[in-house]
Amino acid sequence: MTTTKYIFVTGGVTSSLGKGIIAASLAKLLQAQGYRTTIQKLDPYINVDPGTLNPYEHGECYVTDDGAETDLDLGHYERFLNVPTSQSNNVTTGRIYQSVIHKERRGEFLGKTVQVIPHITDEIKRRIQILGKSGDYDIVITEIGGTVGDIESLPYIEAVRQLKWDLGEDNAIVIHLTLVPYLSAAGELKTKPTQHSVKTLMESGVMADILVCRTEHELPEDLRDKLAKFCNVRREAVIQSIDASTIYDVPNLMLDQGLDKVVLKKLALNSSVPDLTHWNQFLSRHKNPTVEVTIGLIGKYVELQDSYKSILEAFIHAGAENEVRVKVESIHSEYITSKNVAEKLGHLHGVLVAPGFGERGIEGKIEAVRYVRESNIPFLGICLGMQMAVIEYARNVLSIADANSTEMEERTKNPVIDLMESQKTVIDKGGTMRLGSWECDLLKDSLAYSIYGQSSIKERHRHRYEFNNSFKTQIEDAGMIASGINPETGLVEIVEVPDRNWFIGVQYHPEYKSTVANPHPLFVAFVKAALDFKTNTNSVSMAQKQ
Ligand code: GLN
Repeated sequence: MTTTKYIFVTGGVTSSLGKGIIAASLAKLLQAQGYRTTIQKLDPYINVDPGTLNPYEHGECYVTDDGAETDLDLGHYERFLNVPTSQSNNVTTGRIYQSVIHKERRGEFLGKTVQVIPHITDEIKRRIQILGKSGDYDIVITEIGGTVGDIESLPYIEAVRQLKWDLGEDNAIVIHLTLVPYLSAAGELKTKPTQHSVKTLMESGVMADILVCRTEHELPEDLRDKLAKFCNVRREAVIQSIDASTIYDVPNLMLDQGLDKVVLKKLALNSSVPDLTHWNQFLSRHKNPTVEVTIGLIGKYVELQDSYKSILEAFIHAGAENEVRVKVESIHSEYITSKNVAEKLGHLHGVLVAPGFGERGIEGKIEAVRYVRESNIPFLGICLGMQMAVIEYARNVLSIADANSTEMEERTKNPVIDLMESQKTVIDKGGTMRLGSWECDLLKDSLAYSIYGQSSIKERHRHRYEFNNSFKTQIEDAGMIASGINPETGLVEIVEVPDRNWFIGVQYHPEYKSTVANPHPLFVAFVKAALDFKTNTNSVSMAQKQ
């Protein structure tokens, strides 16, 4: 196939309709029919990327191999498709304006007045087509963030209008996602918000080809007919997206309604039966666990599901792999003290201390590490979680009472975690951390080596601070070993305590690389360790009772 086909996904009525999941599910169905498919997200906000956004604002910041700090939807794309995304898969208004303004400063517009149309829209069109022109994909799905009618979305909708013309009918289509609310007082599903949102789209010159209607109740036939008639779409192009018990059900729900068929027909491409064998095997393992383990997630954004999205999804993949239901119990680190730690963590089969930034809640994290290390509960520390494990070890095993990270105490006398040399002159906050994929050599005979089954790995990073190598000998002599080292820089990427049951901290973020097709080995091994811990503690307490 020579021409890349484009699918635009827009949203109407409200946000949070699950555009990212619909885009990922459709992509899965197309990929499972042999089409090389990728997904891109366009975000209308002015931040250059979400790296500077507080997790309370925008959920987790997802990091790609090439070090882009991106929207969490890219995590869904990778988890569904098992194909890495890159900087080109996430574009914001901030980035668009930044490149147009750079070009203007370089004089590239030859004295012309630089305007939203055509200059901003041209830059949006160029960004949309970068992936298509790479030759790597047959189909590019572009999800447009926000809701039609928003002022900040207008240039994107205009770019879609122009591209539909430029590319021609069979080469670009628009899927519009809307809400069909249920009014319980009237006992009815209502189509009016959808009609209005399609009308708003049409005012910008864009006709929706397919409607995906988010609903809490089945859409009856007459209502589908009505939506088709009023919204100018074919009857078979009215698709319902009903609430699902897991996001991983959505590809099958879309398949049942023939979303893939309608899309392929509109794009003049052949359709076949998608091969979802592996996907469905995963689903069946996920839905039929034989046992349950409880894992504590110690962090400071516990009330927000989206803040640790990739970690929670990685547990789903690892749980299915072990045929175990992983019950994740979120525990706020700010309220953990030496007095209540046993009560808060004593019942857990595993503890994960989460990534994070800044001082808030950190003493609670250190206390949690002490408790799980001493009680031999399986422990996984990620990024800040690994740094806390090093501080805890230095304080309580090496008796360096004031050991700390310079992130928390700039003038600490014992900076076991310190700012990287390369970070010391950095002033800008955005895009300046140690980001993206880095190589790491694993020590033979270590827990890490046995988990990965290979001596060299690549994992994704997002941090400014690191294990301070001037304390390495002292810490290793006391029993915490550095089992993963960056071959280029000598930075410590993994620590473990071999005399503990299962205790490992990683400076990188394994959660970003866990997918349905490839559950991350570290999470798989952690869930397995939690299961073993549960089985052993149960048999010990049984024996004690006898
Ligand atoms: N705040 C720590 C650092 O910058 C850890 C970052 C993280 O957990 N992602 O090094």
